[in-house]
Amino acid sequence: MNLIELIQKLISIPSFVDNKTNEKEIGEFIFNYLKQFPYLSAEKQNIGNGRFNIFAKDSAQPKILFACHMDTVEPKSGWKYAQNKIKDNKLYGLGSADMKGGTACVLDVLRDFARTRGLALLFYCDEEYNFEGMKRFAEKYSLRPDLIICPEITDLKVINGCRGIIEIYFRVTGKTGHVASPEKGINAIDGIINIVSLIREDIKKYEHPGLGNAALNLAYLSGGLNKGVNEKGNLVLGNRGNNIPDIAEAVIDIRTPSKELNAGEITRLIKQRSEEQRLKLEKLEIRSDLRAAFSPKEKIIGFEGIDYGNLKEQGYFDVQIISERFDSPFICFGPTGGNVHGADEWVNISSLEKTKNVFKNLIQRSCT
Ligand SMILES: [Zn+2]
Repeated sequence: MNLIELIQKLISIPSFVDNKTNEKEIGEFIFNYLKQFPYLSAEKQNIGNGRFNIFAKDSAQPKILFACHMDTVEPKSGWKYAQNKIKDNKLYGLGSADMKGGTACVLDVLRDFARTRGLALLFYCDEEYNFEGMKRFAEKYSLRPDLIICPEITDLKVINGCRGIIEIYFRVTGKTGHVASPEKGINAIDGIINIVSLIREDIKKYEHPGLGNAALNLAYLSGGLNKGVNEKGNLVLGNRGNNIPDIAEAVIDIRTPSKELNAGEITRLIKQRSEEQRLKLEKLEIRSDLRAAFSPKEKIIGFEGIDYGNLKEQGYFDVQIISERFDSPFICFGPTGGNVHGADEWVNISSLEKTKNVFKNLIQRSCT
């Protein structure tokens, strides 16, 4: 199998996660593929439901760790091209860009070596869902590689960090009353809007020269007259115009560039701002508390002469979890591609060869 055939093989094995499908079958393929390299030993780490991570390494202490997620998002409708169609230097398929193209580069480059010293490979589950694969790997293993590389599409640029994610749900109560005298009530919807704008100001001071500013998205807001809770635990809300709404709930998502700006700090701000608005904070749930990561250029070996990308445009990469845990710098580096998480996802074919060559030089230099 050449590089392109290998990507096509990976694309031909569905690895999105729902009740019937998961990463098991693609995991078996990768696990068996690795057996052809006598210098590597591979093991499975079960994460439940038949799903498993694969960790492979040679006999030396890992210096370079490649981290590749095996799952994709669920298929979307509206595809114009068949899976694995090649046209105009583009290969189309679910996962072609995110990230079976990059994974195939890692798998294929192994054939160029008869042995390595200090090479480790992780193929893991659940990156597009709940980061379960990465969390479980971080719990079990303890390594200290010089560099962790995640072959996501980056347009052949080095991406040396990402902002973290804080997602919080909260609910506040105010005081109802007749709209004719609003000063007698406490409007819970207005209150949440005020809380959110104040927190937007509060977090402005968290700025990182590489990662940029903190960004707050008010993702969900609902409120009205409190008529209790239904059997599913959801609020029942009155929506008549003549009542001051006395209950409201919201979900906020904050992209944080700094370790100091975390779910604990946002919780403190929500409490403080709610009190100032004379609102009672009824409920607060932290749904995500993932840290930012930044790997200084001087710590990144083997990518000299390659351009660095703009970190301010990047989403979160779960490889941050092991970068923090192992205290090892990480980067993302991979081919060019597009339509990620949508129809007609593609990867640029010539950028795949280039990606593989960068990996080859790196392994030659660090692991032989
Ligand atoms: Zn990805």
